[in-house]
Amino acid sequence: YGDPNQKIDYVFKVVLIGDSAVGKSQILARFARNEFSLDSKATIGVEFQTRTLLIQHKSVKAQIWDTAGQERYRAVTSAYYRGAVGAMLVYDITKRQTFDHIPRWLEELRGHADKNIVIILIGNKSDLEDQRAVPTEDAKEFAQKEGLFFLETSALEATNVEDAFLTVLTEIFNIVN
Ligand code: GDP
Ligand code: MG
Repeated sequence: YGDPNQKIDYVFKVVLIGDSAVGKSQILARFARNEFSLDSKATIGVEFQTRTLLIQHKSVKAQIWDTAGQERYRAVTSAYYRGAVGAMLVYDITKRQTFDHIPRWLEELRGHADKNIVIILIGNKSDLEDQRAVPTEDAKEFAQKEGLFFLETSALEATNVEDAFLTVLTEIFNIVN
């Protein structure tokens, strides 16, 4: 997970947003440290975590920001979005409400962030298929309509987490190159 002396070609700031308890912090823990915790405490203090990876032979430092428990509508400040080139909009596939709030988060994001920001919609907790409340098709359709990438992930089983980050980071990389 990265040599600290490595030369860095790019730093990309990516923000995680979405309702509380959808799994944002665990998605980040999985990506940054390959860790997962079932009783994750509300995020405190830590603003972002980084992981450096290679994209087309260039080293890209992904600086991933987590909301630190400010998930109430409009509580996330503009400083959080400042300089972000990517965003992950996360809902929980077992909680319909978290998906119904996605248009609000998108509106917030579009109000604060750069207009060229790369956005991926993420339906997390795909391991809980028996409790699914949001059909994949609904989310796919919404993402298509809004021009977002879309994946379902499981931070618990490590399904598609790497893919989700790679999708966003590679798209950003292609835009700046
Ligand atoms: P956040 O508030 O969005 O940061 O959510 P957390 O990352 O703190 O996760 C909230 C709860 O959901 C915790 O109990 C996690 O262990 C659990 N959780 C997160 N991701 C997954 C997942 O992919 N599958 C399952 N089954 N639980 C998850
Ligand atoms: Mg959190």
